[in-house]
Amino acid sequence: MSARTVFNHTLLAILLATALWPVGIQNAHTQPVLPGQAIEKALFQLKEMDMHLHAGMEREVPLEEWVDLAVADGRKVLVLLDHLELYRQTPEEYAAWAKERGFEQRYPVGSEGHRALMEDLARMRERDDVITFRGWEIYEGELDTGIEPEPMRLAEVIGWHISPNNGGDPPNGQTLLKRIGQIAEIQKDFPVPMIVFHPFSMRLENIQATAGKQGRDLANLTVADYRFFQPGEQERVIDFLKGSSIYIEISRSTGRYWEDPVVREALLADIRPLAEVGVQFTVSTDGHHVESAKRPFEPERYCEPLGIAPRNTNTIVRELLALRARSSLAQPITE
Ligand SMILES: [Zn+2]
Repeated sequence: MSARTVFNHTLLAILLATALWPVGIQNAHTQPVLPGQAIEKALFQLKEMDMHLHAGMEREVPLEEWVDLAVADGRKVLVLLDHLELYRQTPEEYAAWAKERGFEQRYPVGSEGHRALMEDLARMRERDDVITFRGWEIYEGELDTGIEPEPMRLAEVIGWHISPNNGGDPPNGQTLLKRIGQIAEIQKDFPVPMIVFHPFSMRLENIQATAGKQGRDLANLTVADYRFFQPGEQERVIDFLKGSSIYIEISRSTGRYWEDPVVREALLADIRPLAEVGVQFTVSTDGHHVESAKRPFEPERYCEPLGIAPRNTNTIVRELLALRARSSLAQPITE
């Protein structure tokens, strides 16, 4: 091959690459390969799912009644859970905590309490009007300081509580990248779906609380103040989450911020690009109270513009059902 031919081939290759590159990128962004969704009936609508409903020590009514309220508003799939930290109180601390808040002491503390809660939640599987799964909400800090394995083994799903970190730095793209890396590591020992709970709304909470404390007018906050991601971070999150069993929660608290056009612009820029390439999300109420359970849950209002739809929120339900089906086989799964 002459030097001239090599040059021509190289030039051709460069020209082809340049011509094809944008097409390749565009296809990757507009035509993600998603799980089967052609059978519409096989997908739960947003309002039919609540993948984060508090149903333990903070419950205001009996469990059956609490689930009835969710079903009455149209829920067909629930993740019932509780804060794992609450079970680390001493019996005396627990009694004082419950009394102060007017709660009944429904579960003991410690491992006895873990089991009692999980058995109670598992009983809800007998219902034929709703599919329920049981889990824990665990404070994100435990990813740094160490986890408590025994109760985690009882859960079908685990959500990691991203904190607003009020008084400190708000959660951002770096926080999320760090946490999903840690969650992926933990998942090697606990092979259940895991959710990053409310990362975006917790940032908004911190930003507004900090501005309030500094006496700043919230109207002066900019899209840049609210933006969760810095350039390049979304691509890294997408690469990391593609095909994983780690989900990002869009909780009901998002709706609280949605009416502010500045916040809305930031949320659209942060979340929509993830949704468009097929990152998988969950929707939830993060409900604690009867009063909020009686208000209709309307996730479509903020989810639809964000690109969050049945197609990118049903994967976790399918995965949980598949795991349950496998564990119901007479032959246990061997690693
Ligand atoms: Zn919660």
